[in-house]
Amino acid sequence: MCPLQKKQSSSKEIKFKVKEVGTVRVVREFIVLAKNMPSCINGQIVEFDGGLRGIVMGFTQDDVQILMLGPKAQIRAGDKVYSQAKALYLPVGNAFSGRVVNALCEPVDGKGDIVADETFPVFREAPGVMDRTTVERTLESGTRIIDTIMPLAQGQRQLIVGDRQTGKTTMTTDAIINQKGKGVICIYCSIGKTYSSFMKTLNLFQEKGVFDYTLVVSGTASTSVGEQYLAPYTAAMLGEYYMHQGKDVLVVFDDLTRHAWIYRQISLLLNRAPGREAYPGDIFYIHSQLMERAAQLSDEFGGGAMTFLPIVETLQGDATGFIPTNLVSMTDGQTYFSSALFNTGFRPAIDVGLSVSRIGNRAQWPAIKGPSRSLRMEFIQYKELVQMTQLRTTELSKEAQKKLRRGEAITELLIQDKNDPVAMERLVIEMYALNREVLDELTKEEIRKFKKDFYIKICEWFPNLPQQLREGKVVVDETIANLEEAIFHYFNSPDATR
Ligand code: ATP
Ligand code: MG
Repeated sequence: MCPLQKKQSSSKEIKFKVKEVGTVRVVREFIVLAKNMPSCINGQIVEFDGGLRGIVMGFTQDDVQILMLGPKAQIRAGDKVYSQAKALYLPVGNAFSGRVVNALCEPVDGKGDIVADETFPVFREAPGVMDRTTVERTLESGTRIIDTIMPLAQGQRQLIVGDRQTGKTTMTTDAIINQKGKGVICIYCSIGKTYSSFMKTLNLFQEKGVFDYTLVVSGTASTSVGEQYLAPYTAAMLGEYYMHQGKDVLVVFDDLTRHAWIYRQISLLLNRAPGREAYPGDIFYIHSQLMERAAQLSDEFGGGAMTFLPIVETLQGDATGFIPTNLVSMTDGQTYFSSALFNTGFRPAIDVGLSVSRIGNRAQWPAIKGPSRSLRMEFIQYKELVQMTQLRTTELSKEAQKKLRRGEAITELLIQDKNDPVAMERLVIEMYALNREVLDELTKEEIRKFKKDFYIKICEWFPNLPQQLREGKVVVDETIANLEEAIFHYFNSPDATR
C-alpha cells in the first residue's frame, strides 16, 4: 500500500516530491477513510478541499485512515484529499515565546501572526544515549516539599499524579512562576481541559507576568479531537527547538489522562482491537515515545535540557490504574497528590510516602541536601506516630512527645500557599533553623510568623547572604556564623514569637 512508509525516518532520501490526490470514501465522526493514496506515510499531513487538514493515523488493506485536525467540516464521500509524502513539520521560532498557539502552531491569542524561524518535525525521534549526559542542574520547583524531599533536575521527567482537585495544576504553574529570571523557557500544554480552567491558568500567567518566558499550547476540550491528540507532541517539538539552541525548557502536560481518552476514542473509531480498560495496545508506546523526548543533552549538542512534568489523574486515589502505572514506569519519579491530605488542610497535598524523585537528588544544592536528608524519614515517622497515639489515653513518653512536636514543626514548615513559590536560598535558611531545633518549641502561629518574617530579617541584617548562597550553593562557615547570629537576634527580639 505505502512503498515510502519504510523511508519515513529518512525523508531526505526522497529525491522527488510526491504529490497525490486521493478520494474520501467514508467519514466517521472525526475520522476519514480515503483511497487512491498509495504513497502516503504514517504521521504525515493531508489537506481537504476548503483547507481543513488531517493527519494520517494508519492504513487498512485499501484505505488510508485520516484524523481531522480541525472542527468537523462538511466533508463528504467523494471529496478530494491532497497529500505530499512528507512527515508532519510545523513552524518553530523564538517569536513563539509569550504566545498561545494551537496544536498546529497557529496563534489563538489574537495578537497577530507569528514569524517562524524554521520548521521542525512533530514526531521527532528522542535524542539517543550518546547525545545525552547525566543530569546535574537542579530545577527549582518553588514548592517546599519538592525542593527539599523530592528535588527535580533539569532533564528529568516527573509524573504529577493524583485525584481531581488536589492541586496538581497549581504545583506545575507554581513551578512555571518560579522560573522567572532563571533562564528556563516554560511550555504549558493543556490537553482536553475545560476552557474555563484553561482560562484560569492563562489569567494566572498574565497576572504573574510569566509570558516573557512562557508559551502555551492549547488543546482544550473545545478544540478538535485531532488537535487534542497532537498538542503534547507539538509542545515537545517547540521545547526541542529551544533545547537544541542550548537552552533549558520546562514542559507541563495537563493532562495525559485526557490524552489517553482521546487516543482510545480515535482507536475505537479506527476499529483497532481494544485491550485493557478498552485502551488500544499501543497506548504505552505513544506515551513512552513522548516521554523519551525529555533530555539533558551533552555539551557537544549544546548542553540544553528539557524537563517534563506530565500530569495524570487517578480515580479515588487508585494509582494502580492502567494509564497511571504506565506513566509511572516511564518517568523518573512521581509526585503523588492525595485528596485525603488536601481535605485535612495540608497543602500542597503531596503524600511524601508515595512520592519519589529518582534522579533529582544528584542535582540538589549541597546546601539543601544535607539539612533535608533526614526530613522524609522524620516526617513519615511522625505520621505513623500520630496514627498510633490517636487512640492512646495514657501519658506519652518524653521522647515521643519530642518527636510529635518536631513533626508538627516540620508539617507547618512544609505547608505552602498556592501561587507563592519559595526561593531555594530561603529554604536553605529555614531548613537550617529547623535542624537547629529552634522551631520545635514554637506554636503553629509562631512558625507561620517565622516563615513570613525570618527571611526578611536575614535580607535586612545580611543583605549579601542570599546571593552568596545562590552562587555557592553550599553553606560555608561564614554563612553558619551569620545564621547563628540571626537566629539569636530573631528569637531574642520581643516581637519574634508574637
Ligand atoms: P483538576 O483535577 O480539576 O485539574 P487539580 O488537581 O489540577 O484539579 P488545582 O486546580 O491545581 O487541582 O487545585 C484545586 C483547588 O485547590 C483550586 O481551587 C486551588 O486553588 C486549590 N489549591 C491548590 N493548591 C493549593 C495550595 N497550596 N493552597 C491552597 N489552595 C490550593
Ligand atoms: Mg488541573
